[in-house]
Amino acid sequence: MIQFYLNGRKIHTDALPGSALLDFIRNEQGLKGTKLVCKEGECAACAVLVGTLEGGRVHYQNMCSCIMPLANAHGKHIVTIEGLNGEELTPVQQAMVDCHGSQCGFCTPGFVVSLTGALLRAERPGYRQLLKAIDGNICRCTGYKSIERAVQRIAEALPEEAYGLETLLQQGYLPAYFRQMAANLATINEPANDSRPEKEPATTAPLYLGGGTDLLVQMPRKVQHSAVLPVFTQPALKGVREENGRCTIGAAATATELEQSGVIQSILHPQDDFFHLLSSSPIRNMSTVGGNLINASPIGDFTVLFLALDSSIRLQAGGHARTVKLKDFYRGYKKMDRQPEEHLVAIEFERPPKGVCFSFEKVSARRNLDIASVNTAASLAIDGAGRIQTIHLSAGGVGPIPMYLRQTSQFLRGKVLDEPLLKEALDVLQEEIAPISDARGAADYKRRLLRQLMLAHFLKAAPERVDILFVARSS
Ligand SMILES: Cc1cc2nc3c(=O)[nH]c(=O)nc-3n(C[C@H](O)[C@H](O)[C@H](O)COP(=O)(O)OP(=O)(O)OC[C@H]3O[C@@H](n4cnc5c(N)ncnc54)[C@H](O)[C@@H]3O)c2cc1C
Repeated sequence: MIQFYLNGRKIHTDALPGSALLDFIRNEQGLKGTKLVCKEGECAACAVLVGTLEGGRVHYQNMCSCIMPLANAHGKHIVTIEGLNGEELTPVQQAMVDCHGSQCGFCTPGFVVSLTGALLRAERPGYRQLLKAIDGNICRCTGYKSIERAVQRIAEALPEEAYGLETLLQQGYLPAYFRQMAANLATINEPANDSRPEKEPATTAPLYLGGGTDLLVQMPRKVQHSAVLPVFTQPALKGVREENGRCTIGAAATATELEQSGVIQSILHPQDDFFHLLSSSPIRNMSTVGGNLINASPIGDFTVLFLALDSSIRLQAGGHARTVKLKDFYRGYKKMDRQPEEHLVAIEFERPPKGVCFSFEKVSARRNLDIASVNTAASLAIDGAGRIQTIHLSAGGVGPIPMYLRQTSQFLRGKVLDEPLLKEALDVLQEEIAPISDARGAADYKRRLLRQLMLAHFLKAAPERVDILFVARSS
């Protein structure tokens, strides 16, 4: 039995846990304000707020209900546009009207929900933070300028004094029932019952379910009718910790949780903005690090990042646990050193010591909200004499698996970096990779891309040894 609050009402349902929350909202509950458009998490017309009780407060995030498994709603407060509507328009809705931020209107509920979610943070959000909250919402009519004006108006009108839930309630941003929600959610303390559909034989290996951002795009019907084991909210799989320089990331930590921990930003080269190149706010709120690794896409951004950190992963089945180096985990296209009953518990790596340059590069057809054509990461330590002391290179989109570039790393390790050596290394690199032509680019284009991105890593790590003109000449 899945239990949650939908707007102000408590829901108990036996609906299939792997079905999409959007279908439940629209078809079972008759709430049609949440729109069905892309069904792939690309447009956020289906955005809802998902409230989680933590430390006596409800924390809200926007998520795409079209690919959110119903199981992940258990214990949460789900807010649709109907749950924000009152007798009068809220200030967010009024700003959208006044600034002509709505034309055909199909995307408008998603924008209002995402913006209202951003208001529910502990701190008063500014214009930039409000814009970030709608980075996954797509509008086909307005050209965005009128929406930006509405956002500006919302930011300026927000109360300055005593910013918080009570003030937002008093000023009509939220209906009164939000006041009781922390107490309401506290009454749902039992976990959801076995999520196995009745007709499914209990012997099949369960389908582990993270945020669903790969599964519900790739195989929604299969997920709906499978025995699913939700890991998204399992406390044992959450969290980002660092102890004595060893970082441990729970498999069910979301991209947002990892971003908020600051661990990756503190390791990455200051020029790199990993999280802005990764999907969109609602998808980052849903997508787990473990889901990225087990999905085994050759262009998974987390996978490529963690390969160059020389990470290990912890797998478990029943009482048996084991640790595997990530670089040994991928065996062929979507083939892994993993038994179906094993689940991923955590990703672990040593924080790169001082002096290591850790760099991430990604090129995609669009800068935002797009999967990579080619992505690559590098850990590089080059001493005062130019000798490469540490090197771990990885790349995606240039073979059937996310690649740890063993041969190129080995070729360069221990050598003194100069242009002739780099030229030779780029030849080794071309031998090591095997890109194919597909929707994300021709094979030759991907070869050239990786060559340039590799030079970008070295340019960041040792600018005094890599002449920018050499980089330009070798394009
Ligand atoms: C609009 C959109 C944009 C995206 N943009 C990007 C992008 O920029 N970069 C990128 O890399 N990806 C992107 N993705 C893909 C996706 O968001 C990521 O791969 C994400 O990390 C998957 O995590 P999840 O929790 O949603 O996985 P799920 O879909 O829940 O699961 C994926 C796979 O992992 C398995 N699994 C999940 N958790 C575990 C576990 N603990 N143990 C064992 N198996 C497990 C599932 O069974 C499934 O096989 C995008 C997706 C969408 C819809």
